[in-house]
Amino acid sequence: MGQAIEGRFRIELDFDLCQGHGVCAAEAPDIFAVAENRLGYAKVRLLDPAPGPTHHAALRNAAKYCPNRVIRIVMLED
Ligand code: SF4
Repeated sequence: MGQAIEGRFRIELDFDLCQGHGVCAAEAPDIFAVAENRLGYAKVRLLDPAPGPTHHAALRNAAKYCPNRVIRIVMLED
């Protein structure tokens, strides 16, 4: 299992750049899904905005392997 993310964080998605490859959903199916939007384009959907530590490795991999670098893990200050 990978390292947990230390501290509070927010997941940011750039829907304009998302091309619906689905790599994110393959890496982290509990966090991301791909569905068509109203215009018929496949886009990422965030299923879990606050995934627990057991999902952090999958979240990191989704961000790392997204071909368009759409997923950002933004650390929040306390
Ligand atoms: S892998 Fe990246 S570009 Fe593809 S659906 Fe997921 S967020 Fe969008």
